[in-house]
Amino acid sequence: MSGHQLYDMHVHLGWFAEAGEVAERAARLGAGMLAVTVTPAEYLRLRDALAGEKNVALAAGLHPWWVRDARDADALCELLTGVRWVGEVGLDASPRHAATYRSQLDAFELVCDAAARASDPEAPHVLSVHAVRAAGDALDVLERTGAAERCRCVLHWFSGTSEELWRAARLGCLFSMGERALATRRGREYARVLPGELLLSETDLPPERGSALGAEDLVASLERAVARVAAARGADEDDVRALLAANAGRVLLP
Ligand SMILES: [Zn+2]
Repeated sequence: MSGHQLYDMHVHLGWFAEAGEVAERAARLGAGMLAVTVTPAEYLRLRDALAGEKNVALAAGLHPWWVRDARDADALCELLTGVRWVGEVGLDASPRHAATYRSQLDAFELVCDAAARASDPEAPHVLSVHAVRAAGDALDVLERTGAAERCRCVLHWFSGTSEELWRAARLGCLFSMGERALATRRGREYARVLPGELLLSETDLPPERGSALGAEDLVASLERAVARVAAARGADEDDVRALLAANAGRVLLP
């Protein structure tokens, strides 16, 4: 998974109409990716289809929007002894999802606990974490279960407070940022102040299932993220592209 020029550390590859084709074309354009899924079933469906794609790390996930009951975590926990990539997982306390928040918390705790137990210090599990209006709780779970210490935790589109940002950084989390996060003042500020080695790029594309977008759209979005991080930090775009790629390579390598 190393040696790519660009990395998308949070992409819903299975939502592209032609996932395999997008992966292959992205490889030719120099892009590697951590492809997240929203349910264990989606992971299992994609696993065989994408088995040959060397630029894709396919993650097994349980997105908080898909959690109804804590037992929804069981199928994912079972997979984690054999799968190093975990995501999308996390918590969402925004009004639309507040009704399931208790179950989300229980499910997230079970998944982080299973990931921490399964994680090998020589080749740690990698988690892509969604935390909307729930950064403090998400960090509590990562800390309490040992996932923060034993896994490589990446906060996707982090939108917590500055205090929570630094707590996450102290816990060893990294931050994957996309062009939309970087279009906000808070996103640009976080891209400016965080140590460079904690920054990763992502797209969170496509916006919906069955999307006709292609690998070119993905690469263009990553390039816009690179440009925005470079602008926020007052740094050279080529240097930032190389920095983000080196960071991603480190996260994904054993
Ligand atoms: Zn996502």
